[in-house]
Amino acid sequence: MLRQDYELVVGLEVHAQVSTQSKLFSGSSTAFGAEPNTQTCPIDLGMPGVLPVLNDKVVEAAVRTGLALNAHINKTSVFARKNYFYPDLPKGYQISQYDLPIVEHGRMTVDLEDGSSKEIGITRIHIEEDAGKSVHDIGDEKVSHVDLNRAGVPLMEIVSEPDIRTAEEAGAYVKKLRAILRFLEVCDGNMEQGSMRCDANVSVRKRGETKFGTRTEIKNLNSIRNIVRAIEYEAERQVEAIENGEKIYQETRLWDAGKNITRSMRGKENAHDYRYFPDPDLLPLRLKEDDIEAWKKTLPELPDQLKDRFMRDYSLNNYDAAVLSGSRESARFFEAALEGGRDPKLVANWIMVELFGALNKSGKDITESPVSPAQLGQLVGLIEKNTISGKIAKTVFEEMLQSSADPEEIVKAKGLVQITDTGAIEKAIDDIMAANADQVADFRSGNERVYGWFVGQVMKATQGKANPAMLNDLLRKKLQG
Ligand code: ADP
Ligand code: MG
Repeated sequence: MLRQDYELVVGLEVHAQVSTQSKLFSGSSTAFGAEPNTQTCPIDLGMPGVLPVLNDKVVEAAVRTGLALNAHINKTSVFARKNYFYPDLPKGYQISQYDLPIVEHGRMTVDLEDGSSKEIGITRIHIEEDAGKSVHDIGDEKVSHVDLNRAGVPLMEIVSEPDIRTAEEAGAYVKKLRAILRFLEVCDGNMEQGSMRCDANVSVRKRGETKFGTRTEIKNLNSIRNIVRAIEYEAERQVEAIENGEKIYQETRLWDAGKNITRSMRGKENAHDYRYFPDPDLLPLRLKEDDIEAWKKTLPELPDQLKDRFMRDYSLNNYDAAVLSGSRESARFFEAALEGGRDPKLVANWIMVELFGALNKSGKDITESPVSPAQLGQLVGLIEKNTISGKIAKTVFEEMLQSSADPEEIVKAKGLVQITDTGAIEKAIDDIMAANADQVADFRSGNERVYGWFVGQVMKATQGKANPAMLNDLLRKKLQG
């Protein structure tokens, strides 16, 4: 936890690969995982005499994303050359957008675990091409290779305002942004494969201070977990440095996930170091109102609309609704599990706690769930009908994860049906009280703590199958005499 007298300030830059078949300015394929340098052409290689041709699918994707983020669409935007030298950048410049990006001034709502929401400003979205990749030291070789398959792959860079104040908010921001991009089908959001990468700009300041502190930029964070941890670490590091009377330098840092620290990589360039200028090979990009209107009509139900519907139709709270509407697949799973009139809150809990917990552990996606929505609904139905207790349901669920069997079968096969026969529960209580007169006396002389022990004993005697509410009721009556 950051010291109370300091405040964290974060702005995020997210690079999202636009899901297109071909690159931003050439017809080369963008498919992931091909042999190095098999998906390049003279345009990607920066050969002299070639001309870039803009892929209009990318323009459509950027505009639809801008609309989904409640942003302003610039009717005219300009492609600029950002000049720098990298071994994996054959042209010596990257085509990007600079002072006239395609999208500006948006906002997005993020949902936090305590149930609150917060708006984060979106500064801009611009279109740019990716660079290639340097590959170092394969096996024992002390050689570096360059793979240009990624060179020219279309990206949207989505830049937030410095509105983020905690690491949790940063994580929630990336989650929501990823959900929106996926719902729009403009980016697959796969952070492991690098389809979505995040740079975190981090600074701290004394609470009450109105000016921002000097920021550092942590590059290429490739999971939400790493984003959160890197920001937490970096904030602590900066506070400690300031408290020790050191100065924070504007620099680029790297996150070392193995060691859990950030390390200085290089001093941070300023925009003027890149000598941006409009690319003379590309005309300014002009959008027609009709096209924008037509694209607006293609917007699907977005995560926030789905969330609102879940809150309205199923009385879920903000956070639960946000989690379940976080992907189309989890939303579909939830609604399918409700079939037959199950209690939405109970179903939501089972999905969010038990199912997501189990999937997380086994590294599986909800689409690979060994338990189907209908089976999860059936399990909740058994709890609602009092056939099994919530505790036994967890045992049944474990079994379902292993065998993908129906819960009703498991309950039948293992004889797990809850005991709701008053006589049987009473008998178990009587036996235990008779065998433990000392504890009964102890309870009656006012030691309430023995009560829990009795519950445990009766549960043990009934193999955990006694209906908890009935057990409680009967046990208390009998103990009180
Ligand atoms: P650059 O290309 O230099 O990284 P950008 O304008 O693309 O610049 O991005 C700057 C990012 O840094 C934005 O997300 C912005 O919100 C954030 N930012 C700016 N100043 C601060 C600050 N003092 N502390 C934290 N984040 C900041
Ligand atoms: Mg930056």
